Amino acid sequence: MSEPFVQESTEFYGIKEWTGKYNGLTAGFSTRIGGHSQGAYEGLNCGFHVGDHLELVAENRKTLSSSIGLPVDHWVGAEQTHGSHIQQIGKDDRGKGSLDYASSIKDTDGLYTCVEGLLLTLCFADCVPVYFIEPDSRMIGIAHAGWKGTVKGIAAEMILQWEKHGINKEKIQVMIGPSICQDCYIVDDNVIKEIEKWLEVSDQKPYNEISFAQYALDLKKMNRIILEKSGIPARNIMSTNYCTSCHSKHFFSHRKDGGSTGRMLSFIGWKGD
Ligand SMILES: [Zn+2]
Repeated sequence: MSEPFVQESTEFYGIKEWTGKYNGLTAGFSTRIGGHSQGAYEGLNCGFHVGDHLELVAENRKTLSSSIGLPVDHWVGAEQTHGSHIQQIGKDDRGKGSLDYASSIKDTDGLYTCVEGLLLTLCFADCVPVYFIEPDSRMIGIAHAGWKGTVKGIAAEMILQWEKHGINKEKIQVMIGPSICQDCYIVDDNVIKEIEKWLEVSDQKPYNEISFAQYALDLKKMNRIILEKSGIPARNIMSTNYCTSCHSKHFFSHRKDGGSTGRMLSFIGWKGD
């Protein structure tokens, strides 16, 4: 399968697979390259909550916004607490969390909308960004799935919410974005216990035991399993080959950079006023 994320500028990779097909859609994932931050956050850090200078993060976001072509005051960001709460976003929310953390959507790890002129944004450095689109209703969404969000079923929660809007699951397309790969992501029993709760005997395991009580976990694959269990046809789920830890020139990695690092922004929106 060809790589669905294609570098469109210094600042971001676009989901060409979708933006080439759906007119007016912008969707992608920012890089760590360019920007104004220094030290541990050097480059295009988009996270306000990591200890970087807030004015530099705001400048980085403005730089990215020019590159994407959707004004920063049309962005919406969330607090991101590794939970599974998902929020529908409307025009009234525009600008929340775009240039500061305090105004971001509280206790939320997933956003969706069908309104144009909004850019849904979430911050990442190893966790899995899961993008959703149902082109007929113009519904778009994004979820933050680290291991906690993954096992809390945030990807499944998005599907449940959309079903309440009368959306046919067969028509939902899902894209799994740049995040830590199985080789780079070693976890212990506590994580695997939670993963196992989702799995049936017949499921292919998304992890390998590499030494006693140490496991290499494929979070992208785990999210794919959960999405398929939620009724999304396998053919509708695509995934990037990029790992945030392997491709450290392009991306910040919480694991690789030892905890203190910047964040990339995943985003999706319909251009408009
Ligand atoms: Zn990797």
